[in-house]
Amino acid sequence: MKKFLAIIFMTAILISGCGAANYERSEILMGTVVTLKAEGKNSQAAVDESFKAVAELEKNILSDVKKIEVAAGNGDFVKISPDVYKILQTAQIFSERTGGAFDVTCGAAVELWNIGTENPRVPTEEEISAVKNFVGFEHLHLQNGAARLDLRGMKINLGGVAKGYGVDLVRKIFAEKKIQNGLIDFGTSTIFAVGKKKIGIKNSRAENELTAIIELENSALSTSGDYEKFFIANNRRYSHIIDPKTCAPAASEISSVSVVVEGSQKNCATVADILSTAAFVLGRDSAEKFLIENKIPAKFIFQ
Ligand code: ADP
Ligand code: MG
Repeated sequence: MKKFLAIIFMTAILISGCGAANYERSEILMGTVVTLKAEGKNSQAAVDESFKAVAELEKNILSDVKKIEVAAGNGDFVKISPDVYKILQTAQIFSERTGGAFDVTCGAAVELWNIGTENPRVPTEEEISAVKNFVGFEHLHLQNGAARLDLRGMKINLGGVAKGYGVDLVRKIFAEKKIQNGLIDFGTSTIFAVGKKKIGIKNSRAENELTAIIELENSALSTSGDYEKFFIANNRRYSHIIDPKTCAPAASEISSVSVVVEGSQKNCATVADILSTAAFVLGRDSAEKFLIENKIPAKFIFQ
């Protein structure tokens, strides 16, 4: 994840009436536009508290990831914040279950290709082969609130899971504040609907067109694809999602995958974020099989 300024850039809207209030505000956080909407009498407090929590989460992620990377290879476990520890624990569970299709230790490969930044490039075979030594979730160890990477030069990248975790964090604050209607939107990448909401899914090959409109009810939606962050070279479209096995952009048959995860699933938004990224690497059939085998209450929409 990149460093970014937390700029409050959109307007805050407060609509009051009959004692109830609807409140909506957007901020740039975690590399995206986070929009929070809440209805009911605690709406502004819920939104304000949530933004504080997400800003704190972002700060902890940046500093903890750095700490782990600086200590990589020296054998020491590094104490990290409880939130980042939980993110890494969930990521590791899904790395094992997906056979490494999802892997937060893919950071060095992500940086080698640099897709989604201003300087993407196709690396040489030698570079790709060298970076493979620095990718592998089996080299990330977690123990008593601390983390360790086995090899110096390994990098952690939480771009495929942190926004989902942020959505779950806000979801808990909204629940504490008894918000029964609202929307938690992390740049349309991962969304949770409190109550019922209609959400459009973008067509991955036709800008400004929708491919479907779905009704979300107390469930999370996450989308991963090759149409927003990508790079074209050698007549090929390279997506920002890396296959950790090849350390190259996933050669996916899919251009976009959305997943709806029911609210009954623990940490449904974190799981949704992970699953959309993982499904892009796994492909349609393996991704569908994965849901059944792991009994996850979720549904994919492929494009
Ligand atoms: P977005 O962040 O645009 O919503 P995703 O949730 O699909 O998209 O996450 C993609 C990001 O996750 C990449 O930009 C990169 O930072 C990271 N990443 C890429 N490949 C993997 C992978 N196989 N496993 C885990 N994280 C990945
Ligand atoms: Mg994701």
